[in-house]
Amino acid sequence: MVRRRTVLGSLAGLVALGARGYAETGSKPYEDSPDDLYEAVPHHPAVLLEAGERRVRVVFAEGAPGLDRALVLDWVQRAIAATTAYYGVFPMAEYTLFLIAEPGARVGHATTWGYNGSITRQHVGVATSKATFDDDWILVHEMVHCAFPDLPRRALWLQEGNATWVEPVARVRAGQLPASEIWRQAIDGLPRGKAAADDGGMDGTLEHGRLYWGGAAFWLEAEIAIFEATGGRKTLRDALIAINRASGGNVVDWTPEMTMRAGDAAIGKPVLARLYAHWASTPVVIDEARLFARLGVRRTEGRGVAYDAAAPLAALTRRIDAGG
Ligand SMILES: [Zn+2]
Repeated sequence: MVRRRTVLGSLAGLVALGARGYAETGSKPYEDSPDDLYEAVPHHPAVLLEAGERRVRVVFAEGAPGLDRALVLDWVQRAIAATTAYYGVFPMAEYTLFLIAEPGARVGHATTWGYNGSITRQHVGVATSKATFDDDWILVHEMVHCAFPDLPRRALWLQEGNATWVEPVARVRAGQLPASEIWRQAIDGLPRGKAAADDGGMDGTLEHGRLYWGGAAFWLEAEIAIFEATGGRKTLRDALIAINRASGGNVVDWTPEMTMRAGDAAIGKPVLARLYAHWASTPVVIDEARLFARLGVRRTEGRGVAYDAAAPLAALTRRIDAGG
């Protein structure tokens, strides 16, 4: 058992964490310590959900009083469907979702660990509606973390970026989200990942926008690099499936270099290894206008996205719109 404590919170969760903090008076031990969380799992009511050949254990902390279990289990099944659609099979051999009921009408803070088995601790508001559950991205984001090896702290941006980029693509692949949302989020989000003038390479960054959107920009650039290096025969999804199969997900501690090699084995060329080495050590400035023009996507009013089918990378955009 590897004792590591990398915390992968959701974006909304991190915001909530800042406002609320861990040291809330009266919190249960499993709300503070991951060791206590693992310890608590067998002592609370649970339901096993089918995920193809695999099973997901949904634990209701203290019975999760007030939560509508049918609604909750439907939400979990949708997240299972999205990750299964992306990875071909549900990407964790064993996965535990530890649900904590709280006041409110939203899907709340989530944190994921893997050092003693893939587990997500997820707060859920008891008044959350079906529409809000259907719109949720946090649980798919956490499952994507679990599908990817755990990395040293310096590479947290690869993990957060991966979950940020893959989550909407997986939901699109499962028919749960319109494809244009991938681009709306990317066009709106990427500027938040920009490096400041005195920033170096991405390794070691802890700045919130760079962790999520700087990281997501890396994986979008990886989509393009793989598409160009293989003439469209291989995709980032092929690489991420290979990484998932070789690692088993966040139950192992890998280095970024090992991770990229496992992805490149599926591509047949050292595309990810080279891209990572560059991004890790060198400030990368993305010309977003040019990037999205090459992909043939631009923002219009409201949540709209307009496509240019004649753009140089329009074929890749269509592939991503089909779920990678
Ligand atoms: Zn995350």
